[in-house]
Amino acid sequence: MIKKIAVLTSGGDAPGMNAAIRSVVRSSMSYGIKVFGVRDGYLGLIHDDIFELGPDDVSGIIVQGGTILGSARVPGFKEAAVRELALENLKKHEIDALVVIGGDGSYRGALSLAKSGIAVATIPGTIDNDIPGTEQTIGFDTALNTAIEAIDKLRDTSTSHHRCSVVEVMGNHCGDIALYSGIATGAELVITPETGFDFKETIQHLRELDEVRKKKHAVVVISEKLTDVEDLAVHISAQTSFSGRSTVLGYVQRGGSPTAMDRILATQMGDSAVKSLVEGNKDHAVGWIDGKISSMPIEAAFEYKRSRKDDLFDLQKRLV
Ligand code: ADP
Repeated sequence: MIKKIAVLTSGGDAPGMNAAIRSVVRSSMSYGIKVFGVRDGYLGLIHDDIFELGPDDVSGIIVQGGTILGSARVPGFKEAAVRELALENLKKHEIDALVVIGGDGSYRGALSLAKSGIAVATIPGTIDNDIPGTEQTIGFDTALNTAIEAIDKLRDTSTSHHRCSVVEVMGNHCGDIALYSGIATGAELVITPETGFDFKETIQHLRELDEVRKKKHAVVVISEKLTDVEDLAVHISAQTSFSGRSTVLGYVQRGGSPTAMDRILATQMGDSAVKSLVEGNKDHAVGWIDGKISSMPIEAAFEYKRSRKDDLFDLQKRLV
């Protein structure tokens, strides 16, 4: 029977992580389980920065972005000898189980710990929506809404000046923020890792919008890491009659108070992670599949094929 659970946040932070922490703490308490917070992800496990959390420690954090526990990247955690320090500290505090809120790197760390005997449950936390074993991650909806608000504003000014706004959004190697914000703002062009970036095709497409469709403006939403958007905007100005302007949204997408959807998702996932541990699962990943909370072994999550977004890419193109 589980008596003590520890919770940590790891990798890139995301709005809604606090709501998940709160849920893990309050849910554990409802089962009579003591909860410990770990500061700065796996770093706190190695350095024994582990402290008991009471119900009041998580009061009011459901509305806050970021993570009260802090997060860190600890490359050394890939080494068994380093993980051994973490296991010793967990043992010292008589902690039976660990909840890890983070991305796929954090999942790998959690799986390695599970293989050494500590029960773990993982919760997907990242704005990028790119974590195995779930269709949606905590933080994605908030980042999406931040991107939408910015793109809407850029469109207003683009229309007044026959501009083409090239907006770079985050997502790492996943195009979901670009695709969904592109649909929600009626963007003229969406370019993601899934569609690939073709310079000539992009210019040709914008020329058609300009010369054939007589569009007053064009908004291009593009995922990060595909091309230099400043350079692309210069070429758009030179090769079409649009005046090209680039905006990199950057880290604002990682901040802010979580949306209702992220708060609720995080609350459900936190509770589900605790339940999974109470039921005796040793290495489960919590997710969101087919409109419901899911739970599967972490290794199965790595194999889980997320649904393809072909219909959404097609919809975006057809409605321009
Ligand atoms: P994310 O969890 O957001 O994907 P990272 O990839 O940076 O972020 O991973 C977060 C942390 O997880 C790393 O700093 C490291 O401590 C741990 N980690 C990543 N990959 C592994 C691995 N293969 N084995 C053990 N720990 C890992």
